[in-house]
Amino acid sequence: MSEDLFERVIRGEVPADVVFQDETTFAFRDIRPQARVHVLVVPRQRYRNLAELAAGDPQLLSDVVATARRVAELEGILESGYRVVFNTDADAGQTVFHVHAHVLGGEPLGFFGAHEG
Ligand code: 5GP
Repeated sequence: MSEDLFERVIRGEVPADVVFQDETTFAFRDIRPQARVHVLVVPRQRYRNLAELAAGDPQLLSDVVATARRVAELEGILESGYRVVFNTDADAGQTVFHVHAHVLGGEPLGFFGAHEG
């Protein structure tokens, strides 16, 4: 499988602001934040998207979700609330095909869904 951007981030070849890491997951700030807190959580092992991760390694999906919660805790937004988003393929705007959870919060978040106009 060819290398992707997030594999390079995990290896430290692309600089990133790392928030948390453990044996199976890696969390770092999004370069173009969409909210005051915007952190990406990726499994170290590459799967293309959420469905492939869920089918291929359910324990690893659970690890990603646990790390999303840990990130919320570290960022001080467990009580105020946060959103976890997995963009999947074209209509969702997925641009990096190494599955990742966006953890968003730190302020009230808007509605989301279809674009107007
Ligand atoms: P997607 O659109 O695939 O759901 O999310 C990819 C995310 O990766 C985007 O929110 C984008 O801002 C972020 N991103 C793209 N390139 C980089 C990078 O080099 N470093 C970091 N930290 N984030 C990136």
